Amino acid sequence: MPDLNQIPATIPGYDPESMPLDAALAAIRSPLTPVDGTDTVALRDALDRMVAADIISPIDVPAHDNSAMDGYALRSADLREDAESRLALVGTSLAGHPFDGALRAGQCVRIMTGAMMPSGADTVVMQEVVSIANERVIVPAGQKHDANRRRAGEDLARGSVALAAGRRVRAADLGLLGSLGLREVAVRRRLKVAFFSTGDELGTAGDTLGTSSGPLRAGQVYDSNRESLHGMLTRLGCEAIDLGIVRDDPAALELAFRKGVASADVVISSGGVSVGDADYIRPMMERLGEVLFWKLALRPGRPMAFGRLANAGKHALLFALPGNPVATMVTFYLLVRPALLALMGQRDVDLPMLPALAQQAMAKRPGRTEVLRGVIELRDGEWRVRTTGAQGSGMLSSMSQANCLIVLEHERDEVKAGERVEVLLFEGLV
Ligand code: AMP
Ligand code: MG
Repeated sequence: MPDLNQIPATIPGYDPESMPLDAALAAIRSPLTPVDGTDTVALRDALDRMVAADIISPIDVPAHDNSAMDGYALRSADLREDAESRLALVGTSLAGHPFDGALRAGQCVRIMTGAMMPSGADTVVMQEVVSIANERVIVPAGQKHDANRRRAGEDLARGSVALAAGRRVRAADLGLLGSLGLREVAVRRRLKVAFFSTGDELGTAGDTLGTSSGPLRAGQVYDSNRESLHGMLTRLGCEAIDLGIVRDDPAALELAFRKGVASADVVISSGGVSVGDADYIRPMMERLGEVLFWKLALRPGRPMAFGRLANAGKHALLFALPGNPVATMVTFYLLVRPALLALMGQRDVDLPMLPALAQQAMAKRPGRTEVLRGVIELRDGEWRVRTTGAQGSGMLSSMSQANCLIVLEHERDEVKAGERVEVLLFEGLV
């Protein structure tokens, strides 16, 4: 991994005091290469895992020419162009029970969908068009040659790439690998991500590192970020390692970061990176590694730090996210998710944006990306989006009610009702 301090010079628009989303994303992605290590897992356990190396088809699929219809397999050379043809019915070919023998001139075989084409046959005539008289099959004139035949290897040819490295295995892929007769798949090992929350105000029932348990005392809030981080990490397919709650104390924080580096590939903290906190957190983090501190030109989600920590010969990537619960989730989705997927070896990490009609005016200031929680619906043939209402960066109910994020681009001014906005659907993201 290159020196993080070299990154700023290579990224257009890089400005730690007001970091555009694009520049932050480019800086985060520039040093990343997938983690080493693969697991060989049973086929079904490969679901949602990342294919480690190109999977080459060991066979032709289908393995044999077979029929695409219920009908009669015949030799097209036996068909007359201008008149009906009469063929002798010499046997049947059923799925799993092929006709053994070869078709000779003037013969045909009853065949079912998926059944192997008899040797010598090149065409299947569907059963609806033929008639049978005096033990002869009567085929009308004008049949297409080579019709209704599935060719060996037309789905996948032996030696071709069935699934490319870096592909996240989906249901269709399980089926495809099943059709190759594969029972095991080499996938990348799971990414380990340790996470913790910081803040003296955080209380939780039965936390692990402990500030309190049970009912809230005056001035406390329950920790929600560890719950949403657990959810987001698990949905991505990471091994989520919960390091609990850490007090606002440099020594306790340093210990938590060291634990994170010892146990994981990536350490994510939330809270404690606001301007006031940075003063004492920065020297501690800098002792542990290379860390870039940014004020993001993003709302919600202003302060964050990105870096690489080292401890006892091990390294881990660091994301120190803002503590406001919506800001934690938005920065995770926009900045951390693509980085984790790149580390996991996934090739395509960008999500499609959907254009939608704004159902209301939306305040927006140029010079920063603003992300609103939205509800999108299809009405009168158009995708229409409204906000969930109050958009405070501490209001998790806005995330919970939303089915999408409305992403208002950096340069954009105020949005008027009826204008088009870009939307990131939660489906596929969460
Ligand atoms: P900070 O980023 O530490 O300045 O925190 C910003 C705001 O987010 C404060 O109101 C915190 O109480 C709140 N906050 C920080 N961490 C959490 C958390 N884990 N769960 C819920 N709220 C939090
Ligand atoms: Mg705090």
